[in-house]
Amino acid sequence: MIKIARLISGTRISQDIKNEITEEVKEMKRTKGIVPGLSVILVGDNPASKVYVRSKQKGCEEVGFKSETIRMDKSAPTEDVLKELDRLNNREDIHGILVQLPLPEQIDKAKVLEAIYPEKDVDGFHPVNIGKLVTQQKCLVPATPLGIIEMLKRENIVIKGKNVTVVGHSEIVGKPVSLLLLNEWATVTICHIETRDLKIHTIDADILIVATGVSYLIKGDMVKEGAVVIDVGINRITKDKANQELLEWRKEDFENKGATLIGDVDFLRVEPKASYISPVPGGVGPMTIAMLLSNTLKAAKNIVGMK
Ligand code: NAD
Repeated sequence: MIKIARLISGTRISQDIKNEITEEVKEMKRTKGIVPGLSVILVGDNPASKVYVRSKQKGCEEVGFKSETIRMDKSAPTEDVLKELDRLNNREDIHGILVQLPLPEQIDKAKVLEAIYPEKDVDGFHPVNIGKLVTQQKCLVPATPLGIIEMLKRENIVIKGKNVTVVGHSEIVGKPVSLLLLNEWATVTICHIETRDLKIHTIDADILIVATGVSYLIKGDMVKEGAVVIDVGINRITKDKANQELLEWRKEDFENKGATLIGDVDFLRVEPKASYISPVPGGVGPMTIAMLLSNTLKAAKNIVGMK
């Protein structure tokens, strides 16, 4: 009998979260007359960034937030972005601020991220928020890692005491998710590009989290029977780069869009071994937006002194 893993639908869970946020926003508006506001700074015209910013705005509209995008020229100097941030930091109607990454080369990214008030830093990239995450204080946590933990919790997957392997050690995903897992009492192994033998670290994982941007990195023989697998990677594969199996599996995508999105996990081989698995698309991706909205609501509540 072929065992099939339970799919962790980020689409469904994120919709639940957005519904909960919508209710809270209505209540906030009714009782306090306050509407959470998110401002996104977009510097330049990176096509992927534009898509991400649009979906963040759409998310805000869905839950009833005020939202705005501040577009700046790709040649804008750091000082211009800092000036804009200063203005946003001081605006009462804006509770969340984020600067869409990546930034053009001439901009001092660290300076920019540090200029956002930590209370409004809904991406959770400010060193103050990262420091608070390490020391387990209340803070704003990066959305993708938060989404991963939320998915596990809402599926009633126990984290405490589990062996968790995180593949990828970026500031956006790998490192913060490892800290969150540690704070939940998991035993965490972190792997990266210099890890010599990936398989010896993945094969014992009760929960395997992969965020590398390398398609087919995790093969069937690298995963333990019954493991929970969270695939964070997003890889766009065009028709000319796809293998025969992918061409058949994602036939519709290739016909309609000429490309498809896959994760870092060889889904067709890993899924029969896993107990739970998050798909790509429809897994961690939608959770990221939901948690950004959740962070904005949290920031607004903190700023106006609500619990
Ligand atoms: P990154 O490029 O900053 O980091 C990649 C990490 O993978 C690094 O730690 C690197 O050492 C590691 N790595 C690369 N090749 C490896 C290999 N062969 N073996 C082991 N480790 C290896 O990437 P990131 O920003 O963390 O994003 C990772 C992936 O997750 C990307 O595909 C990105 O698009 C996706 N992502 C998805 C979401 C979402 O909402 N679903 C959010 C953020 C990132």
